[in-house]
Amino acid sequence: MRQKLVVGNWKMHGCSADNRRLLQALVSGLPAAGNTAVAVCVPFPYLAQAQSLLAATPVSWGAQSLSEHAQGAYTGEVSAAMLADFGCRYAIVGHSERRAMYGETDAQVAAKFVAAKVAGITPILCVGETLAQRESDETLAVVTAQLDAVLDVAGVAAFAGGVVAYEPVWAIGTGLTATPAQAQAVHAAIRARIAARDTAVAAGLQILYGGSVKAQNAGEIFAQADIDGGLVGGASLVVDEFLAICQAANR
Ligand code: PEP
Repeated sequence: MRQKLVVGNWKMHGCSADNRRLLQALVSGLPAAGNTAVAVCVPFPYLAQAQSLLAATPVSWGAQSLSEHAQGAYTGEVSAAMLADFGCRYAIVGHSERRAMYGETDAQVAAKFVAAKVAGITPILCVGETLAQRESDETLAVVTAQLDAVLDVAGVAAFAGGVVAYEPVWAIGTGLTATPAQAQAVHAAIRARIAARDTAVAAGLQILYGGSVKAQNAGEIFAQADIDGGLVGGASLVVDEFLAICQAANR
């Protein structure tokens, strides 16, 4: 059975004092045992704080993006090696906010995925369709094209022990959520796409759902066969809500 994974994406929120309170409450509220791994992806300036507060705990930490370049004259960018230096286990790549607001292309997302892998960091590859694409029945075409763009560059072996997050753009931060059946259909298609290249890699792949996951809807979403946990934005900033989501994954 695949382990469940719940990842908090703090986006551009937080300050040292609030982060400390949140992380301490998260660590002390998590159940001692269970089949769910938990991680938080924090803004770059707080990676050192996450590392010092979480190092001796079961909670992992990561970044929300990274540069596709190893080093050099890339003002404002942060490399995978720098993230590894701060103990990051994960890096989100291709979040729809990065694609839409910062023009990240499929080629860049693939290069970031590879850069993370080279540094020993697990990329969390985000894919998902807009509302217009869903309404014109393009969901699976869009999602598989985003996936193929990375598979073609990184190779299927790079997805071994990997994480993909299906995040319908129309559900992120909107309060709208894909129904469990809608999400399951896309998750199954993602797994089948990987299985066409390597069945063992597909069987081990953790596919997270993201898009307005809350304590109240997490249980039925996580109960789907191909949904292995969640990528959680807003609700990851409210500790009781996030803990309840982790609990729902544990069932
Ligand atoms: C996200 O940040 O990836 C996300 C899914 O946000 P939210 O849970 O707030 O919709």
